[in-house]
Amino acid sequence: MSIDIRKIRDDFPILHQEVYGKPYVYLDNAATTQKPLAVINALSDFYRNYNSNVHRGVHYLSQKATGMFEETRDQVKELINAAFRQEIIFTKGTTESVNFIAAVYGETFISQGDEIITTVMEHHSNLVPWKLMAEKYGAKVKYIPFNEQGVLDIAAYREALNDRTKLVAIGHVSNALGTIHPVKEMTAIAHEKNIPVMIDGAQATPHMNVDVRELDCDFYCFSAHKMYGPTGVGVLYGKKKWLEQLPPYQSGGEMIDSVTLEGVTFNELPYKFEAGTPNVADIVAYGAAIDYMQETGIENISRHEQELLHYTTEALSTIDGFKMYGEAPAKAGVISFLIGDIHPYDMGMIIDKMGIAVRTGHHCAQPVMEHFGIAGTVRASLGMYNTREDADHLAEAVKKAKKMLNSTLRL
Ligand code: PMP
Repeated sequence: MSIDIRKIRDDFPILHQEVYGKPYVYLDNAATTQKPLAVINALSDFYRNYNSNVHRGVHYLSQKATGMFEETRDQVKELINAAFRQEIIFTKGTTESVNFIAAVYGETFISQGDEIITTVMEHHSNLVPWKLMAEKYGAKVKYIPFNEQGVLDIAAYREALNDRTKLVAIGHVSNALGTIHPVKEMTAIAHEKNIPVMIDGAQATPHMNVDVRELDCDFYCFSAHKMYGPTGVGVLYGKKKWLEQLPPYQSGGEMIDSVTLEGVTFNELPYKFEAGTPNVADIVAYGAAIDYMQETGIENISRHEQELLHYTTEALSTIDGFKMYGEAPAKAGVISFLIGDIHPYDMGMIIDKMGIAVRTGHHCAQPVMEHFGIAGTVRASLGMYNTREDADHLAEAVKKAKKMLNSTLRL
Protein backbone atom coordinates (compact mmCIF):
# COMPACT_ATOMS: atom_id res chain seq x y z
CA MET A 1 0.00 0.00 0.00
CA SER A 2 1.31 3.49 -0.77
CA ILE A 3 0.64 6.55 1.35
CA ASP A 4 -1.90 9.23 0.50
CA ILE A 5 0.52 12.16 0.41
CA ARG A 6 -2.18 14.77 -0.22
CA LYS A 7 -4.11 13.70 2.86
CA ILE A 8 -0.94 13.59 4.95
CA ARG A 9 0.07 17.10 3.91
CA ASP A 10 -3.41 18.35 4.77
CA ASP A 11 -2.87 17.03 8.29
CA PHE A 12 0.18 19.28 8.84
CA PRO A 13 -0.97 22.91 8.96
CA ILE A 14 2.55 24.37 9.23
CA LEU A 15 3.46 23.09 5.74
CA HIS A 16 0.84 25.31 4.11
CA GLN A 17 2.46 28.65 4.79
CA GLU A 18 4.68 30.83 2.67
CA VAL A 19 8.06 32.06 3.85
CA TYR A 20 9.62 35.05 2.09
CA GLY A 21 6.65 34.83 -0.27
CA LYS A 22 7.60 31.31 -1.36
CA PRO A 23 5.88 27.98 -0.63
CA TYR A 24 7.52 26.40 2.41
CA VAL A 25 9.67 23.33 1.77
CA TYR A 26 10.63 21.69 5.03
CA LEU A 27 13.66 19.40 4.74
CA ASP A 28 15.05 19.54 8.28
CA ASN A 29 13.25 16.49 9.64
CA ALA A 30 16.33 14.98 11.26
CA ALA A 31 16.41 18.03 13.57
CA THR A 32 12.71 17.82 14.35
CA THR A 33 9.54 16.82 12.52
CA GLN A 34 6.39 18.90 12.11
CA LYS A 35 3.25 17.93 14.02
CA PRO A 36 -0.05 16.73 12.58
CA LEU A 37 -3.37 18.19 13.73
CA ALA A 38 -4.04 15.00 15.68
CA VAL A 39 -1.06 15.80 17.93
CA ILE A 40 -1.78 19.53 18.20
CA ASN A 41 -5.40 18.76 19.09
CA ALA A 42 -4.47 16.06 21.61
CA LEU A 43 -2.27 18.58 23.41
CA SER A 44 -4.89 21.28 23.53
CA ASP A 45 -7.63 18.76 24.37
CA PHE A 46 -5.62 17.57 27.36
CA TYR A 47 -5.21 21.08 28.76
CA ARG A 48 -8.84 21.97 28.02
CA ASN A 49 -10.44 18.87 29.45
CA TYR A 50 -8.16 16.59 31.44
CA ASN A 51 -5.31 18.54 33.00
CA SER A 52 -4.39 17.05 36.36
CA ASN A 53 -1.35 15.57 38.03
CA VAL A 54 -0.87 11.83 37.60
CA HIS A 55 -0.59 8.89 40.02
CA ARG A 56 -1.53 10.96 43.05
CA GLY A 57 -5.13 12.01 43.06
CA VAL A 58 -8.19 9.96 43.79
CA HIS A 59 -10.27 12.55 42.00
CA TYR A 60 -11.87 12.08 38.60
CA LEU A 61 -9.50 14.09 36.39
CA SER A 62 -6.38 12.80 38.07
CA GLN A 63 -7.48 9.25 37.37
CA LYS A 64 -8.42 10.13 33.83
CA ALA A 65 -5.05 11.86 33.21
CA THR A 66 -3.20 8.93 34.75
CA GLY A 67 -5.03 6.54 32.44
CA MET A 68 -4.17 8.61 29.36
CA PHE A 69 -0.55 8.98 30.44
CA GLU A 70 -0.13 5.26 31.09
CA GLU A 71 -1.81 4.42 27.80
CA THR A 72 1.08 6.08 25.96
CA ARG A 73 3.46 3.81 27.86
CA ASP A 74 1.51 0.81 26.56
CA GLN A 75 1.63 2.24 23.03
CA VAL A 76 5.41 2.67 23.24
CA LYS A 77 5.76 -0.87 24.57
CA GLU A 78 3.80 -2.19 21.58
CA LEU A 79 5.59 0.12 19.12
CA ILE A 80 9.04 -1.24 19.96
CA ASN A 81 7.81 -4.68 21.01
CA ALA A 82 9.20 -4.50 24.56
CA ALA A 83 8.41 -7.47 26.78
CA PHE A 84 7.10 -5.43 29.74
CA ARG A 85 5.55 -1.98 30.21
CA GLN A 86 7.91 -1.53 33.19
CA GLU A 87 10.77 -1.37 30.68
CA ILE A 88 9.53 1.94 29.23
CA ILE A 89 10.85 5.00 31.08
CA PHE A 90 9.80 8.48 30.02
CA THR A 91 12.55 11.09 29.82
CA LYS A 92 12.74 14.46 28.12
CA GLY A 93 14.58 13.19 25.05
CA THR A 94 17.33 10.98 23.68
CA THR A 95 19.97 13.22 25.24
CA GLU A 96 18.52 12.71 28.70
CA SER A 97 18.10 8.97 28.11
CA VAL A 98 21.79 8.59 27.21
CA ASN A 99 22.93 10.77 30.12
CA PHE A 100 20.70 8.71 32.39
CA ILE A 101 22.40 5.44 31.40
CA ALA A 102 25.85 7.00 31.52
CA ALA A 103 25.14 8.19 35.08
CA VAL A 104 23.53 5.13 36.64
CA TYR A 105 25.38 2.45 34.68
CA GLY A 106 28.65 4.30 35.29
CA GLU A 107 28.03 4.56 39.03
CA THR A 108 27.15 0.86 39.26
CA PHE A 109 29.44 -0.92 36.84
CA ILE A 110 32.36 1.26 35.68
CA SER A 111 35.72 1.48 37.37
CA GLN A 112 39.34 2.33 36.62
CA GLY A 113 40.66 0.70 33.42
CA ASP A 114 37.22 -0.31 32.05
CA GLU A 115 36.36 0.40 28.42
CA ILE A 116 33.27 1.71 26.64
CA ILE A 117 32.90 1.27 22.89
CA THR A 118 31.21 3.79 20.68
CA THR A 119 31.79 4.98 17.10
CA VAL A 120 33.27 8.01 15.34
CA MET A 121 29.88 8.57 13.70
CA GLU A 122 27.85 9.38 16.81
CA HIS A 123 25.81 12.49 17.52
CA HIS A 124 27.47 14.42 20.36
CA SER A 125 24.62 13.22 22.61
CA ASN A 126 25.97 9.69 22.33
CA LEU A 127 29.58 10.71 22.64
CA VAL A 128 30.08 13.44 25.22
CA PRO A 129 28.24 11.61 28.06
CA TRP A 130 30.56 8.60 27.63
CA LYS A 131 33.66 10.76 27.55
CA LEU A 132 32.67 12.54 30.75
CA MET A 133 31.60 9.34 32.45
CA ALA A 134 34.88 7.64 31.49
CA GLU A 135 36.91 10.58 32.85
CA LYS A 136 35.01 10.41 36.12
CA TYR A 137 35.80 6.73 36.73
CA GLY A 138 39.22 6.47 35.05
CA ALA A 139 37.79 4.42 32.17
CA LYS A 140 38.51 4.70 28.45
CA VAL A 141 36.26 5.26 25.43
CA LYS A 142 37.18 3.51 22.18
CA TYR A 143 35.79 4.77 18.87
CA ILE A 144 35.01 2.49 15.92
CA PRO A 145 36.03 4.10 12.62
CA PHE A 146 34.11 4.19 9.34
CA ASN A 147 35.10 4.21 5.67
CA GLU A 148 34.62 6.78 2.89
CA GLN A 149 31.12 5.52 2.15
CA GLY A 150 30.14 6.02 5.78
CA VAL A 151 30.07 2.32 6.72
CA LEU A 152 31.37 1.20 10.11
CA ASP A 153 34.40 -1.07 10.27
CA ILE A 154 32.91 -4.19 11.83
CA ALA A 155 36.26 -6.01 11.92
CA ALA A 156 37.68 -3.14 14.03
CA TYR A 157 34.59 -3.38 16.25
CA ARG A 158 35.15 -7.10 16.86
CA GLU A 159 38.77 -6.42 17.72
CA ALA A 160 37.95 -3.57 20.08
CA LEU A 161 35.81 -5.75 22.36
CA ASN A 162 37.74 -7.38 25.18
CA ASP A 163 37.52 -8.42 28.83
CA ARG A 164 37.66 -4.79 29.96
CA THR A 165 34.72 -3.69 27.75
CA LYS A 166 31.76 -2.85 29.98
CA LEU A 167 29.32 -1.31 27.50
CA VAL A 168 28.76 -0.73 23.79
CA ALA A 169 26.89 2.52 22.92
CA ILE A 170 26.07 2.85 19.23
CA GLY A 171 23.72 4.83 17.05
CA HIS A 172 21.12 3.00 14.97
CA VAL A 173 21.05 5.60 12.16
CA SER A 174 23.56 8.41 11.65
CA ASN A 175 22.01 11.89 11.70
CA ALA A 176 24.96 13.30 9.74
CA LEU A 177 25.26 10.70 6.95
CA GLY A 178 22.07 8.63 7.12
CA THR A 179 23.90 5.30 7.47
CA ILE A 180 21.81 2.53 9.00
CA HIS A 181 24.19 0.50 11.13
CA PRO A 182 23.90 -3.29 11.49
CA VAL A 183 22.93 -2.95 15.16
CA LYS A 184 21.40 -6.42 15.45
CA GLU A 185 24.66 -8.07 14.35
CA MET A 186 26.71 -5.67 16.48
CA THR A 187 24.58 -6.51 19.51
CA ALA A 188 25.01 -10.25 18.90
CA ILE A 189 28.80 -9.78 18.64
CA ALA A 190 28.91 -7.90 21.97
CA HIS A 191 26.65 -10.45 23.64
CA GLU A 192 29.07 -13.26 22.70
CA LYS A 193 31.31 -11.61 25.31
CA ASN A 194 28.41 -10.76 27.67
CA ILE A 195 28.77 -7.04 27.01
CA PRO A 196 25.51 -5.04 27.16
CA VAL A 197 24.55 -2.74 24.27
CA MET A 198 22.81 0.64 24.31
CA ILE A 199 21.42 1.95 21.02
CA ASP A 200 20.73 5.60 20.23
CA GLY A 201 17.64 5.24 18.06
CA ALA A 202 16.81 8.95 17.68
CA GLN A 203 17.08 8.74 13.88
CA ALA A 204 15.67 5.24 13.51
CA THR A 205 12.24 5.31 15.18
CA PRO A 206 10.91 8.04 12.81
CA HIS A 207 11.69 5.94 9.74
CA MET A 208 11.45 2.22 10.43
CA ASN A 209 9.93 -0.47 12.60
CA VAL A 210 12.13 -1.04 15.61
CA ASP A 211 11.77 -4.29 17.55
CA VAL A 212 13.91 -4.25 20.68
CA ARG A 213 13.37 -7.95 21.30
CA GLU A 214 14.54 -8.82 17.82
CA LEU A 215 17.57 -6.52 18.19
CA ASP A 216 18.07 -7.99 21.67
CA CYS A 217 19.66 -4.69 22.78
CA ASP A 218 19.88 -3.93 26.49
CA PHE A 219 18.92 -0.23 26.23
CA TYR A 220 17.31 1.80 23.43
CA CYS A 221 16.82 5.60 23.43
CA PHE A 222 14.68 7.89 21.27
CA SER A 223 12.83 11.24 21.10
CA ALA A 224 9.13 11.92 20.43
CA HIS A 225 9.76 15.20 18.59
CA LYS A 226 11.52 13.42 15.73
CA MET A 227 8.46 11.14 15.38
CA TYR A 228 5.84 13.85 14.70
CA GLY A 229 5.25 14.15 18.46
CA PRO A 230 5.87 16.98 20.94
CA THR A 231 9.21 18.27 22.18
CA GLY A 232 10.27 17.47 25.72
CA VAL A 233 9.45 13.74 25.61
CA GLY A 234 11.86 10.88 25.19
CA VAL A 235 12.01 7.20 25.96
CA LEU A 236 14.56 5.03 27.61
CA TYR A 237 13.88 1.35 27.04
CA GLY A 238 15.87 -0.97 29.26
CA LYS A 239 15.68 -4.71 29.79
CA LYS A 240 14.03 -5.35 33.13
CA LYS A 241 17.04 -7.32 34.39
CA TRP A 242 19.19 -4.17 34.01
CA LEU A 243 16.66 -1.64 35.29
CA GLU A 244 16.18 -3.71 38.42
CA GLN A 245 19.90 -3.56 39.18
CA LEU A 246 20.37 0.15 38.51
CA PRO A 247 19.90 2.92 41.09
CA PRO A 248 17.52 5.88 40.53
CA TYR A 249 18.76 8.63 38.23
CA GLN A 250 17.01 11.41 40.14
CA SER A 251 15.19 11.45 43.44
CA GLY A 252 12.15 13.21 44.84
CA GLY A 253 8.44 12.55 44.46
CA GLU A 254 6.92 9.68 42.43
CA MET A 255 10.05 7.51 42.64
CA ILE A 256 9.70 6.55 46.30
CA ASP A 257 7.75 3.82 47.98
CA SER A 258 8.11 5.15 51.50
CA VAL A 259 10.08 7.92 53.13
CA THR A 260 10.91 8.29 56.79
CA LEU A 261 13.51 10.60 58.19
CA GLU A 262 15.67 7.52 58.69
CA GLY A 263 15.44 6.01 55.24
CA VAL A 264 13.84 5.67 51.81
CA THR A 265 12.58 2.73 49.81
CA PHE A 266 12.14 3.06 46.07
CA ASN A 267 9.01 2.68 44.04
CA GLU A 268 8.65 -0.22 41.59
CA LEU A 269 9.60 -0.02 37.90
CA PRO A 270 9.16 2.15 35.91
CA TYR A 271 8.33 4.80 38.55
CA LYS A 272 11.66 4.35 40.35
CA PHE A 273 13.13 6.22 37.36
CA GLU A 274 10.47 8.91 36.92
CA ALA A 275 11.06 11.38 39.75
CA GLY A 276 8.81 14.43 39.88
CA THR A 277 5.78 15.43 37.86
CA PRO A 278 6.26 14.08 34.35
CA ASN A 279 5.52 15.94 31.12
CA VAL A 280 1.96 14.61 31.19
CA ALA A 281 0.34 16.61 28.38
CA ASP A 282 3.15 16.04 25.90
CA ILE A 283 3.33 12.35 26.74
CA VAL A 284 -0.43 12.06 26.13
CA ALA A 285 0.01 13.90 22.80
CA TYR A 286 2.92 11.59 21.94
CA GLY A 287 0.35 8.79 22.03
CA ALA A 288 -1.52 10.60 19.24
CA ALA A 289 1.73 10.82 17.22
CA ILE A 290 2.30 7.08 17.57
CA ASP A 291 -1.29 6.46 16.45
CA TYR A 292 -0.70 8.74 13.47
CA MET A 293 2.47 6.94 12.41
CA GLN A 294 0.83 3.54 12.82
CA GLU A 295 -2.31 4.56 10.93
CA THR A 296 -0.11 5.78 8.06
CA GLY A 297 1.89 2.56 8.38
CA ILE A 298 5.54 2.67 9.38
CA GLU A 299 6.46 0.39 6.46
CA ASN A 300 4.64 2.75 4.10
CA ILE A 301 6.56 5.70 5.55
CA SER A 302 9.86 3.81 5.05
CA ARG A 303 9.01 2.92 1.47
CA HIS A 304 7.95 6.46 0.61
CA GLU A 305 11.08 7.99 2.16
CA GLN A 306 13.38 5.47 0.43
CA GLU A 307 11.85 6.23 -2.94
CA LEU A 308 12.20 9.96 -2.27
CA LEU A 309 15.79 9.54 -1.05
CA HIS A 310 16.74 8.07 -4.43
CA TYR A 311 14.78 10.68 -6.34
CA THR A 312 16.32 13.60 -4.40
CA THR A 313 19.83 12.18 -4.67
CA GLU A 314 19.41 11.85 -8.44
CA ALA A 315 18.03 15.38 -8.74
CA LEU A 316 20.97 16.86 -6.82
CA SER A 317 23.52 14.69 -8.64
CA THR A 318 22.86 16.54 -11.88
CA ILE A 319 24.36 19.70 -10.35
CA ASP A 320 27.98 20.36 -11.24
CA GLY A 321 30.27 20.02 -8.24
CA PHE A 322 27.74 18.03 -6.14
CA LYS A 323 29.44 15.78 -3.62
CA MET A 324 27.44 13.62 -1.26
CA TYR A 325 28.80 12.56 2.14
CA GLY A 326 27.41 9.20 3.21
CA GLU A 327 26.88 6.62 0.49
CA ALA A 328 26.23 3.52 2.55
CA PRO A 329 24.09 0.87 0.84
CA ALA A 330 21.68 1.01 3.80
CA LYS A 331 20.64 4.64 4.33
CA ALA A 332 17.73 6.55 5.84
CA GLY A 333 16.37 9.73 4.22
CA VAL A 334 19.37 11.99 4.81
CA ILE A 335 21.36 13.68 2.04
CA SER A 336 24.47 15.46 3.31
CA PHE A 337 26.29 17.33 0.58
CA LEU A 338 28.51 20.17 -0.61
CA ILE A 339 28.63 21.96 -3.95
CA GLY A 340 32.20 22.61 -5.03
CA ASP A 341 33.89 24.79 -2.44
CA ILE A 342 30.77 26.75 -1.52
CA HIS A 343 30.49 27.10 2.23
CA PRO A 344 27.45 25.21 3.59
CA TYR A 345 26.24 28.29 5.57
CA ASP A 346 26.21 30.40 2.41
CA MET A 347 24.24 27.75 0.57
CA GLY A 348 21.82 27.28 3.50
CA MET A 349 21.20 31.01 3.88
CA ILE A 350 20.49 31.58 0.22
CA ILE A 351 18.15 28.65 -0.24
CA ASP A 352 16.36 29.67 2.96
CA LYS A 353 15.39 32.87 1.15
CA MET A 354 13.84 30.63 -1.50
CA GLY A 355 11.63 29.01 1.15
CA ILE A 356 13.73 25.90 1.72
CA ALA A 357 14.61 24.73 5.21
CA VAL A 358 17.72 22.56 5.40
CA ARG A 359 20.37 22.17 8.08
CA THR A 360 23.92 23.40 7.61
CA GLY A 361 27.00 22.83 9.73
CA HIS A 362 28.45 19.87 11.61
CA HIS A 363 25.07 18.46 12.74
CA CYS A 364 26.39 17.84 16.28
CA ALA A 365 28.77 15.25 14.83
CA GLN A 366 32.08 17.10 14.60
CA PRO A 367 34.25 13.93 14.45
CA VAL A 368 32.35 12.95 11.27
CA MET A 369 33.26 16.26 9.64
CA GLU A 370 36.84 15.90 10.85
CA HIS A 371 36.99 12.47 9.20
CA PHE A 372 36.14 14.05 5.85
CA GLY A 373 38.31 17.13 6.48
CA ILE A 374 35.39 19.56 6.10
CA ALA A 375 33.74 22.13 8.37
CA GLY A 376 30.23 20.94 7.68
CA THR A 377 27.68 20.00 5.04
CA VAL A 378 24.25 21.00 3.82
CA ARG A 379 21.80 18.36 5.03
CA ALA A 380 18.39 17.71 3.55
CA SER A 381 16.44 15.20 5.65
CA LEU A 382 13.12 13.68 4.68
CA GLY A 383 9.86 13.05 6.47
CA MET A 384 6.65 11.28 5.52
CA TYR A 385 5.09 14.48 4.09
CA ASN A 386 7.89 15.35 1.66
CA THR A 387 7.24 15.04 -2.06
CA ARG A 388 9.06 14.90 -5.38
CA GLU A 389 8.07 18.55 -5.80
CA ASP A 390 10.03 19.34 -2.62
CA ALA A 391 13.05 17.57 -4.11
CA ASP A 392 12.68 19.49 -7.37
CA HIS A 393 12.40 22.80 -5.48
CA LEU A 394 15.54 21.94 -3.52
CA ALA A 395 17.56 21.04 -6.62
CA GLU A 396 16.36 24.16 -8.42
CA ALA A 397 17.24 26.39 -5.43
CA VAL A 398 20.69 24.82 -5.03
CA LYS A 399 21.37 25.41 -8.72
CA LYS A 400 20.32 29.07 -8.44
CA ALA A 401 22.31 29.60 -5.26
CA LYS A 402 25.37 28.06 -6.87
CA LYS A 403 25.10 30.44 -9.78
CA MET A 404 24.69 33.44 -7.49
CA LEU A 405 27.56 32.46 -5.21
CA ASN A 406 29.92 31.59 -8.06
CA SER A 407 29.35 34.96 -9.68
CA THR A 408 29.89 36.75 -6.35
CA LEU A 409 33.13 34.80 -5.82
CA ARG A 410 34.35 35.92 -9.24
CA LEU A 411 33.85 39.64 -8.44
N1 PMP B 1 21.12 11.14 18.67
C1 PMP B 1 20.92 11.40 17.37
C2 PMP B 1 21.41 10.42 16.35
C3 PMP B 1 20.26 12.58 16.99
O1 PMP B 1 20.06 12.85 15.70
C4 PMP B 1 19.81 13.47 17.99
C5 PMP B 1 19.09 14.76 17.63
N2 PMP B 1 19.60 15.48 16.58
C6 PMP B 1 20.03 13.14 19.32
C7 PMP B 1 20.68 11.98 19.63
C8 PMP B 1 19.58 14.03 20.43
O2 PMP B 1 18.18 14.06 20.48
P1 PMP B 1 17.42 15.12 21.40
O3 PMP B 1 17.95 16.45 21.01
O4 PMP B 1 15.99 14.91 21.02
O5 PMP B 1 17.72 14.77 22.81
